[in-house]
This record gives sequence, structure tokens and C-alpha cells, in this order.
Amino acid sequence: MKKIIKNGTIVTATDTYEADLLIKDGKIAMIGQHLEEKGAEVIDAKGYYVFPGGIDPHTHLDMPFGGTVTKDDFESGTIAAAFGGTTTIIDFCLTNKGEPLKKAIETWHNKAKGKAVIDYSFHLMISEITDEVLEELPKVIEEEGITSFKVFMAYKNVFQADDGTLYRTLVAAKELGALVMVHAENGDVIDYLTKKALADGNTDPIYHALTRPPELEGEATGRACQLTELAGSQLYVVHVTCAQAVEKIAEARNKGLDVWGETCPQYLVLDQSYLEKPDFEGAKYVWSPPLREKWHQEVLWNALKNGQLQTLGSDQCSFDFKGQKELGRGDFTKIPNGGPMIEDRVSILFSEGVKKGRITLNQFVDIMSTRIAKLFGLFPKKGTIAVGSDADLVIFDPNIERVISAETHHMAVDYNAFEGMKITGEPVSVLSRGEFVVRDKQFVGKPGYGQYLKRAKYGTLTLSKQDEKLTI
Ligand SMILES: [Zn+2]
Repeated sequence: MKKIIKNGTIVTATDTYEADLLIKDGKIAMIGQHLEEKGAEVIDAKGYYVFPGGIDPHTHLDMPFGGTVTKDDFESGTIAAAFGGTTTIIDFCLTNKGEPLKKAIETWHNKAKGKAVIDYSFHLMISEITDEVLEELPKVIEEEGITSFKVFMAYKNVFQADDGTLYRTLVAAKELGALVMVHAENGDVIDYLTKKALADGNTDPIYHALTRPPELEGEATGRACQLTELAGSQLYVVHVTCAQAVEKIAEARNKGLDVWGETCPQYLVLDQSYLEKPDFEGAKYVWSPPLREKWHQEVLWNALKNGQLQTLGSDQCSFDFKGQKELGRGDFTKIPNGGPMIEDRVSILFSEGVKKGRITLNQFVDIMSTRIAKLFGLFPKKGTIAVGSDADLVIFDPNIERVISAETHHMAVDYNAFEGMKITGEPVSVLSRGEFVVRDKQFVGKPGYGQYLKRAKYGTLTLSKQDEKLTI
């Protein structure tokens, strides 16, 4: 069905202007003044911004961890994402050593199929480099369109890969046209510090943060950057939390290395003191890397502003407080790591970033959507408002004031990490490929509507000109 969005203020990563949008066959067909089209439904966006749909490059839906499974699956997780102004997610497909990658990817397809209400894609975790893995990787890229690989430098004896594996993944990614993502924390030293804390009887949630100090994130980030330089490859550091890591990324970028950094809303507005909440409530804020001392927040905001960090992911990985986080009572290492962030990512960046003058409106769009589309092979199908792009749009009220709460959020989880936070701005309606998923703050989407997205190789365009180099 054809639609015209009238009178809105269109905002892209580069421009802000008033214009109408004509949507046909799920794509943006025309942008102009006073558009008219026979048979088109007219939607009035007066007083609202029209943004390209948010892209969340970092989600863990329906993911097993620490003997339990995340509360939000691809249905509740993508519904919450849509309410928050996100129209595409890239979830992490976990792999098991010795198991064909194909099988892991199949498992993830089955988790999403029939459930996602918005479009989705997968990153692939690399836990080992064997002959079998090296043989499969080109197929993963060509057939599945998975062009980003995740390597964990932490979670010893669970997800952690050794440096040799990271280096060989970087080399393979360079050859094949993929982007390597790292969880950068020094897992070996963390393993020692956590064991020591438990032996000393230090079992409360706060010790989760104290045994993973920022130096260990800075060290691992620097190591990953050096290995990237040696491999002549490309690197994306997920969930950057602290000055030490920002410094290493900035240093690498100043050398001209192809290194990128993501942070998350929780690191921009929450701090380490949340882990000290009484009655074990600190467990609600246990994720890795941990929350830091408050002064790091300003470093992260500045890094977003000056381009040392480029993207915002949610690291959505939700566990109920009751029954799940509680598994770690008396032993902080047994608290499932993660928090519910998928819904509030875009609004927090707008309210705390744009409204408080820390970043510009166009930077906001770049950080929550456009840059992510470019880095992960989705641009310009996703991530912008342009003729020919998918009509993934957010009609956003920039002035409404509201309070974030688990009472009103759409995630399946029993608490919200930003509970009580006053923010300004909220998505009113959200469209995916020209169809409303959220209309006037009501869910009108359909589980199974979301399509799997094959992505282009790193640094290339997704539309017809696959081989044309893209300047990121
Ligand atoms: Zn994560």
C-alpha cells in the first residue's frame, strides 16, 4: 500500500529539512514538497522528526547463558526494539567448538523465524580456527551474508578465544571481506581476580565490577588493535566502557588503522555505584564489561562527539531479577551477565545526547543507524532516508517528557535498568518496509514479518553495485 508522510522534519546523518515522503512497495519512492499520489494513505507528521529506523548492532535474544536463557526472545525482543525506534537488529549467533558453523547458524535462524517483527541479521561467533572453520567461512559470507565475526577475549573456559584465534580470524576476515568484532577484556586476569575475590569471601554483586577493572579492558583493546595492525585487517570493538579503551581506539585510529568503537546507553548514564544497591538489587546491573566510575561517562560522550567512538549498540541480554539474576546470591560469578537495553537505546541517546547538547541531531542519526548500516553491509538499503532505501522510519515526538519504567516497557523482563529516569522524546509510529509496526504507540506488527538480511562484504555497497567501494 502507498503512503505519504507529510509535514515532518526529515533527519539524516547529514541533513535536516522539511519534506514529504512517498512510500511505494516498501521503499521510499520520492522525497519532495507537497507530494500527492492517488490512493496513498496520508500520515501527518507535523511537529515530529522523521528518522531512518534505528539499527541495533548488538543484541542477544533467546541466548543460553550460565545455565539459563535470556528472558526476551525474537518476538518480545523485536517488539520492544520497535517501540524504541529500532527497525533492524543484528544478533550474535553463538557457536560451539567442534560443531559445524552451518549448524549454529541454523539454530539461530530457527530462533528468529516466525517471531521477529522487524528485520534482522546475524554476526557469527568464532571460538576456534580449524581447517573445517576456514573451509566454511567463505560459504558463511557468500550464502548466509554474514560478514562480521565476533571473538571473545573474556569469559575464560566459556566463550574466550586465545590470541592466536583472534589473529587468524583477523587475517581470514581481511581476505574474505568481513569485520572482526571483539569483546575486549583480559579474561585470564579476570579469572584470577574473581577466584581470589571468592576465596576472600567477597561474594556481593559489586565484586563483579571490582574484579574486572578498566585497565583490563584497556589492555585487551590495545592488544586487539595491535593484532589488527599486524594482520592489516579491520576491527570493531563492542561495548566500550572506559577511558582506557577509548584511548587505545583513538591511538589506533590516529595511526590510520581501520578500527571502530561502539558504546552502549548503560555506560553513558549509569555507573558502578548501582552494583552496590541493597538487597542484592545490584545484580540487576551485572553485565560485562561492568559499569564504571561516573567520570568515564564524560569521556564516552566526548568520544561519540569527536568520532573516536562511532556507534551505539544495546548489548540487550535480559534476565529477570527474580529467578534468574538471583542464581548468583552468595556468589557474584553465578549472576547471569546482561541487561534489558534494546527498548531505550535510541531514546536515551536522543534525550541525553541531543537534548543536552552533547551531540548534534545528525550525529545522533549516524550513531544509532547510518554508521552501523555502513559498517555492517546494510547501507543504503537500511540506515538512511533516500529514494530506493527501505521505508524503515521512525516518526518521533521530540518534546514529550516521560519516565522510563518496567511498568510501561515492552520487554518481557521484570525490571528496567533505567527505572525512574526522566527523558524527553519518544517514537510515536515506527514503520518497517513501509508497514506500521507501531502506530500511535500501539503495536500493530506481526510476528514473522521480519525478514532475514544478508549483508554485503565489509566496505562494499549492498545495492546492485556489490563491488563498488564504499567510503565509510
Ligand atoms: Zn554482548
